[in-house]
Parts: sequence; structure tokens; C-alpha cells
Amino acid sequence: MLAAITHALALAARLEDEGQFNQAKLLRAACASRLTQAAHQFNLPSNPAAWLDEADRAIQSLAELGTPDDLLAALRHARAAQAAGRLSQYAEAPDPFVCRTCGHVSLGPVAGPCPTCGAQPATFQRWRGTYWLEALDPFAALEHLRSTPKVLAGLVADLPEALVSQPPEDGSWSLRQTIAHLRDAQGVLEERVNLILDQENPPLASQAVFAWARSEAGRPPALREILEAYYASRARTLARLESLPPADWWRRGRHEEFGELCLYHQVSYFACHELVHFPQLERLRPPAA
Ligand SMILES: [Zn+2]
Repeated sequence: MLAAITHALALAARLEDEGQFNQAKLLRAACASRLTQAAHQFNLPSNPAAWLDEADRAIQSLAELGTPDDLLAALRHARAAQAAGRLSQYAEAPDPFVCRTCGHVSLGPVAGPCPTCGAQPATFQRWRGTYWLEALDPFAALEHLRSTPKVLAGLVADLPEALVSQPPEDGSWSLRQTIAHLRDAQGVLEERVNLILDQENPPLASQAVFAWARSEAGRPPALREILEAYYASRARTLARLESLPPADWWRRGRHEEFGELCLYHQVSYFACHELVHFPQLERLRPPAA
């Protein structure tokens, strides 16, 4: 498979040099699709503790393929963070920039032409921690942030409290825990928006939003109150975002996990985050009697 993918990518690069961009794009998409499909069907152990051994195997194989030492060192740091039960931080795992021409890797932003092939910095491809940061432009993200409270209200409007709190048999989050998680995430979004708009390039601390979902500490007893806190926080956030001059969407903050990012990245991230949870809420909702 590696030989076939390499051949197709080599051809794509030649075609781009000749201006055959559409043929090249189809080849690149086909390669990405085949690699993703193969990974999807690959059998890995389901227990996260076993992934430490899998990471060792992957790092060893990538070293044998000639992966640069600084990228391998960053990978070992990230694996060590997982072993210590924490998320790896941007300082030890900066975004890799890969030269589209020759494959040279730079950890962190590229200062000058590619040291291997001389390609310009703008030709490098950046690998971010999550594509959610760039998935939605400000207009699309605002549209989602406006509509999701209404969708959520419709989902739970006629459900009795006891049903909402009942945990599913598979041990996953209850409707109440999932909605509390959305409320917590909205709280983080509101705080981040205010920080980025009120301060110059503020630090943005990582938040253990996933760990909070199962904790009842500081929660109001009734789902209605959790929802009201969510709606009120969302309304304040929207009021601020909707009145911004366009340039303010490019104000920056320094995220512990994802590095320097703009306000629009942060808003895209949280809008995507909600959309990911909605199918789960639909599944949790008991069928109408
Ligand atoms: Zn290069």
C-alpha cells in the first residue's frame, strides 16, 4: 500500500507543477481516504492503558522510517504525559509544519525558506491539535451558537426530571450529565471570549471539562436551572460576539494545549463541540410514548 500511495502522491506533485490542480486534488483525496479507511479497520486494543505500548511501537516504526529526531522527541514527551495521566501541553508538543514539496518538518512556525528544498514558508502545511479550531468561519459558528439552545430546549422540553437523570445501562453519561457538560463548556467559552477581548494575548488555561461532567459538585439540583444558566451564559456571549468589529475576531490568546489561537478559532471549537454532542442527546432521549 505504501508504494501505491507514494506513487500517486509523486504524480500529484508533478501534476501541480504543470497546473493540473484538479487531477492532483483527486489523487491526494483518494490517498487520504485509503489511509484513513485502513486505519479505521485496524484492530487496536480498546483499553487506553495498552496504547502506551502501541505508542512505543509507532514511535519505533516511525524512527525506522527516518522521522526527524525533534518530532520523535516531541512524540515521546506526549506519550510520557499520557503515562502520567495528563494532557500534553503545547510547549512540549508544538504544531508541526510539514513542507508540501519535500516533507521537511519544522516544529513550530517556519521562519524562512525550507532548509531542505528552499520552498517558501507559506507552502508548509500546519498540523493543529484539532480541526475544530478552523472548521467554522465566524458567521457559521455564530449561526450554530444561536440555534443550539433552541434545539436543546426542544429535546428536553417534555421530559420528567427522573428520566433525565437516569444513567444509560452502558455506563455512559445521562442526559442530565451531557447537558451539564454543555453548560460547563459554554461557561469556558464565555470566559475565553471575555479574556481574549479584555486582555492582550492572555494565557488560556486547559479545563478538565470532561472530568466535571460526572461530578455533581456545585450543580443546581434541577435540570431547568442547569438549562437556564446555559441559556443566560450563551445570550451574554452572543451579545458580545455579535457587536464585534471584524478585526476583533483575530485577537489572540495563548492556549496551554493548542498554542496561540485567535478568537475565531475558539468560537469555532466550541460550536463544533456542541454539534458533536447532539446525536448523543438524540440517542439518550427516550422515544415518545
Ligand atoms: Zn522543503
